[in-house]
Amino acid sequence: MDIKKLQQFLDENGLPKFRLGQIQKAIFTDGVFSFGEITTLSKELREKMEKELRLLSFEIEKVLTAKDGQSIKALLKLHSGDLIETVLISPKPGIWSACISCQVGCAMGCRFCATGKMGFKRDLTAEEITDQILFWKQYLKKNSSDLFENCELKIENCDVNNIVYMGMGEPFNNWKEVSESIKILTDEKLFGFGSRSISVSTSGIAEGIERMANEFPQVNLAISLHFASNEKRNRFMPINKKDNLENLRDALKKYFTITKRKVFLEYIMLDGINDTALDAKLLADFIYSIGNTHLLHMNLIRYNMTSEELKPSSKTRTQLFKQELEKHNINATIRKSLGEEIEAACGQLAGK
Ligand code: SF4
Repeated sequence: MDIKKLQQFLDENGLPKFRLGQIQKAIFTDGVFSFGEITTLSKELREKMEKELRLLSFEIEKVLTAKDGQSIKALLKLHSGDLIETVLISPKPGIWSACISCQVGCAMGCRFCATGKMGFKRDLTAEEITDQILFWKQYLKKNSSDLFENCELKIENCDVNNIVYMGMGEPFNNWKEVSESIKILTDEKLFGFGSRSISVSTSGIAEGIERMANEFPQVNLAISLHFASNEKRNRFMPINKKDNLENLRDALKKYFTITKRKVFLEYIMLDGINDTALDAKLLADFIYSIGNTHLLHMNLIRYNMTSEELKPSSKTRTQLFKQELEKHNINATIRKSLGEEIEAACGQLAGK
């Protein structure tokens, strides 16, 4: 929903200011599915709004739900005709995290990523980014009891709790719209999310990390690290040729000085590529070189296969890698890979 357009519409139609608050509450708090449902407005006004405004900036092309009901993926068709993806994941009953896209495709070209293979098409607007959350809020409102019908625990009135910018695109390559979208998501009159329930994930653009520390020190930062040697990172993540591990380390040091907040380091486990004892040692060395190790949290993620040439590390190998890290006094969490059957890794559906 484009709030500026809504405001303009109200001005052009000579409507009093309080109407804006009424409509915003209906959309963002009550979660109406159409303007027609806002019964505090006259029928005539509702009809005019239906004709001239739109609630969502895309059509829903496809929604896939995993058998366990813990992950749901939506393929969305923007009015430009481009396709994007967004995923809703429930890490525990009643808690929902929405993973959203910020670009159509991505220019970063990470070799393990389906979106990277599509190349870059265009940036999303702040409206297109925040509408993904509006869509999931509406979806949960409509479907929450169905989603839990096979569980002992029945949860109704579910809502989106957390937001991660971890879908298609590199957030720091579209910072103007991404930062605008964060302002909309945290605006109390609109979505009203707390900054700490939002996370931005980057492939490691050093300049962006510093900018985010200054502009949104309370928003969480996650870094797709994946390799702890420049030689391997160069091979799989072209960004490393511009911002190598040393640049990343310096950016993180600055980030900690400003925010003193925890950073999540993401590490996908690739069989025989980055999962040896030596890789664990290099990773531990890199973490110690940053300092503030208590503020760095390692997430080990089993690779959700999007490439023929790469295979996920086995569960045993992932466990052994974790133990190797522990020998170096680095704690890590093995993150459950959710939604493989619905191709939940970013770009798997839109790229088809
Ligand atoms: S992993 Fe992220 S940054 Fe890399 S290509 Fe995919 S979407 Fe882009």
